[in-house]
Amino acid sequence: MQLRKDPISQNWVVQEDGETSRPNLNACPFCPGQEALTPQSIYSYAKGQGGWEVRVTPHLHPFYRIEGDAQRRAEGIYDQMRTLGAHEVVIESPHHHLRLSQQSDENVAQVLRAFVSRIADLKKDRRFRYVSVFRNQGEQAGRDSDHPHSQIIATPFIPRQLVYELRSLRRYFALKERCLLCDIAKQELAQQVRTVEWDSQFMAFCPFASRLPYEVWILPIEHHCALEEDLTTWDRQLHLARFLKSIVRRLESVSPDYHLVLHTTPNQHAKFERTDHWRTLLEDFHWHFEISPVRPATSRSYFLKEVSFNSVLPERAADELRRVNL
Ligand SMILES: [Zn+2]
Ligand SMILES: [Zn+2]
Ligand SMILES: [Zn+2]
Repeated sequence: MQLRKDPISQNWVVQEDGETSRPNLNACPFCPGQEALTPQSIYSYAKGQGGWEVRVTPHLHPFYRIEGDAQRRAEGIYDQMRTLGAHEVVIESPHHHLRLSQQSDENVAQVLRAFVSRIADLKKDRRFRYVSVFRNQGEQAGRDSDHPHSQIIATPFIPRQLVYELRSLRRYFALKERCLLCDIAKQELAQQVRTVEWDSQFMAFCPFASRLPYEVWILPIEHHCALEEDLTTWDRQLHLARFLKSIVRRLESVSPDYHLVLHTTPNQHAKFERTDHWRTLLEDFHWHFEISPVRPATSRSYFLKEVSFNSVLPERAADELRRVNL
């Protein structure tokens, strides 16, 4: 495996060198009793004297390797480097068939707590510029196991989508001295046409220019730049767990499969990171979850090169999701 950078789009691509063979496991490596099939746990939570409820292990077939350094090198005008990074799996529950939306509030809160702990820990490694957390639910979303799990990937670069967001939010802040996502949250809460659900702490809405039908974003109403610095108390973790489950249940009524991705601040302490670049990061960036439903081909949105085509108005999508009987 190697990382190659496209000099035009600045996009990093994980390039496999050839077909890597993956041994076929007969048993689910994430089920209790099969712990020997995965590398040793990095993190685990057990209730009382019982077995684990949530655990984190290195990925069985990682895209990235933790040892050494990135060995950035040029090939003519092109850039490439080793796939240095961390690739971990958060096994969310001992129960093989329990979707996130069916797990208890406490369990989902423990999953969020595991995210917080792992992000904070990986950010201590100065080789990593960003820690991604994501979840693929369902076959169509490309999940690689039926067992409920999320993935965490730490990389020596910031993913392109994040770079765009960071730039855009920083530019807005430079002009107005306000956080763009705080302003969006305020307007959406006042207009109440694209909001899906909100309470005293969090809100969910369908973005004005949603890229996909039923795309939903979740964010804290009060300004917080990083999830791992916001979700420090059990009350807050439990609150978000309930909120997240409710949103996911609404979405599941239109699409059981989805991608969920966390956008949080990059690692400001990374090696070679230009600190002046992040002068206003704490004030201009606002963490959020982006959830993109994966829908059957008949109602799929078409991508015309880089322009998204969305067949469902976000206002109608939000209205439909609000009316879901939970
Ligand atoms: Zn399992
Ligand atoms: Zn904000
Ligand atoms: Zn985002």
